[in-house]
Amino acid sequence: MFPDLPMNEEAHLIEPERDQELVTVTLLKQYIYCPRVVYYETCTPGIRPRTYKMQAGSEAHDRERERAARRTLTAYQISEGERHFDVRIISRRLGLSGMIDEIVLTPHEAIVIDYKLTGRARDNHLIQIGAYGMMVEEAFNLPVQRGYIYLIDLHRFESVPIDGPLRNSVLETLKSMDRIRLYEYMPPPVESRFKCESCEFRRFCNDI
Ligand code: SF4
Repeated sequence: MFPDLPMNEEAHLIEPERDQELVTVTLLKQYIYCPRVVYYETCTPGIRPRTYKMQAGSEAHDRERERAARRTLTAYQISEGERHFDVRIISRRLGLSGMIDEIVLTPHEAIVIDYKLTGRARDNHLIQIGAYGMMVEEAFNLPVQRGYIYLIDLHRFESVPIDGPLRNSVLETLKSMDRIRLYEYMPPPVESRFKCESCEFRRFCNDI
């Protein structure tokens, strides 16, 4: 027997286009990449150019979604579970909204999975899956102790423990993002300048 959806008043599945005041989990991920991206996205909305890389990522994701539905649950080390794809979710407690590639529900736990077009899981991917885990836990009233990042090109799963340190990172990052959003604070440029080479906001950063 699997839990019913959804679950409580503060966290629930939503229709698209609602709750626009919430911060997206994608923005949380972008903060880890470079905090200044959050400034551009929230204080100067509409300037972000759409790049070939974003388009390619979106198309790869769509193809992976079809393949994932045919996979077994073996990779998640369970024999049975109820799978949900492209689940829109919010948490008013965290002030977050997002769309999760895949959630697996069992009677005892929920597992979150994110598909990525990258060679390895990075810190920004980890915080994203940590936030998803916290949101799902709240929404479905089930413990979430692990998630997976599926590396599309490598056909490989990376396991992510959704533990105390990762949860604290999510909360601390949200606080830092508030400073940027609410006070229109522009952070300094990212220290690892190689990130700027592939950043779509590069032409707006005159100090790099
Ligand atoms: S160009 Fe560099 S400093 Fe500017 S937003 Fe992008 S990553 Fe950050």
